[in-house]
Amino acid sequence: MVKAVVGANWGDEGKGKITDMLAQEADIIVRFQGGANAGHTIVNDYGKFALHTLPSGVFYGHTTSIIGNGVALNIPVFFKEYNEVVSRGVPAPKILISNRAQIVMPYHILFDQYEEERLGGKSFGSTKSGIAPFYSDKYAKIGFQVSELFDDDYLKEKLQRVIQTKNVLLEHLYHKPLLDADELFKELVSYREMVAPYVCDVSAYLWQAIRDGKEILLEGQLGSLKDPDHGIYPMVTSSSTLAAYGAIGAGLPPYEIKKIVTVCKAYSSAVGAGAFVSEIFGDEADELRRRGGDGGEYGATTGRPRRMGWFDCVASKYGCRIQGTTDVAFTVLDVLGYLDEIPVCVGYDIEGEVTTEFPPTCLLEKAKPVLKTLPGWKTDIRGIKKYEDLPENCRKYIEFVEEQIGFPITMISNGPGRNDIIYR
Ligand code: GDP
Repeated sequence: MVKAVVGANWGDEGKGKITDMLAQEADIIVRFQGGANAGHTIVNDYGKFALHTLPSGVFYGHTTSIIGNGVALNIPVFFKEYNEVVSRGVPAPKILISNRAQIVMPYHILFDQYEEERLGGKSFGSTKSGIAPFYSDKYAKIGFQVSELFDDDYLKEKLQRVIQTKNVLLEHLYHKPLLDADELFKELVSYREMVAPYVCDVSAYLWQAIRDGKEILLEGQLGSLKDPDHGIYPMVTSSSTLAAYGAIGAGLPPYEIKKIVTVCKAYSSAVGAGAFVSEIFGDEADELRRRGGDGGEYGATTGRPRRMGWFDCVASKYGCRIQGTTDVAFTVLDVLGYLDEIPVCVGYDIEGEVTTEFPPTCLLEKAKPVLKTLPGWKTDIRGIKKYEDLPENCRKYIEFVEEQIGFPITMISNGPGRNDIIYR
């Protein structure tokens, strides 16, 4: 069976932990979109890891970890991460890389930095990992597929052609040093040596795996609201964050995705710019940020403080719907145990009209949160294993959220560890 683990919100919902947990019963874990721009934090028996490109299944001996064709593959970053995991005692994971995955080129990272510099105060808050220039080139049909690394003549000719336009921009728009085709060729040859043992036809592999009855997990990055079509465009990421894209970014039939586990955090956090209706500020935000996640809400890739907010039922209902959710995993609930009362955003007031439907960005900018306050439970719920053993107000919070979003919360995460989970 194929399952997807995806985010309902702005990312950082705790997908890494849920994937790591579900990976215990999986044979194959596939990354199908995004790149090294976001990260998952995973706590397990080997320690605490921030993964950016490696699938979250790398900690199990029994799983195969796959980089699908939809990923923006930064080869040196991938192998740095791989080597770090192995050097910290994790058995060498089984890896496969799609021959159709495209490569983040050194100049994608440069263009990402130069463009953010050029935009100054109007920048997108990019992590400068080259993701937007990478996907622009992919759809402009001047990207490099992993398979192309294995043909020297083709590669040389294409590099010459592609850097011509890049150099015009570098010279006249950014006033930066120009690219050299020979140097880039050498760099790509070193990439080839790194990936060669792992490259394969991933869609053929997955087709057979489905026939053999294997358990396959598709691991999403970021969340619904960062999707380029359905999210808060233009403050989105450059590849689709939706489970549906799993079929494309991994190369398997859409009807094989039977379960869509959408991860939804018990409060909100976001990185980068863009409308964030239930955002909070000042001491209230600082306290939630400090207590949030496992050791605070700071970016796994950049270390920058995340923007904080109360749980947003409007955004989460939409986020779950657009994913095609079959199950909600409600995470980081333990963090809210310090609050006397917990505000929840139940509607958006847009110029005097209240709606519970998530609007497109131009209206979203005008939305004010309609808050409802629920009583807190004022206890530490970590370690609880059964739903009935949760404090009454905590259950009421879960049930209220479930009713508002309209999708079943079947898992509740009450701590960062693999076993901090309550099934319902
Ligand atoms: P992801 O990108 O969606 O995987 O999310 P992140 O890894 O950026 O953020 C999740 C953070 O919360 C990580 O530090 C996790 O270890 C932590 N975490 C996940 N689930 C829980 C939970 O239920 N409780 C607490 N306290 N932390 C959690």
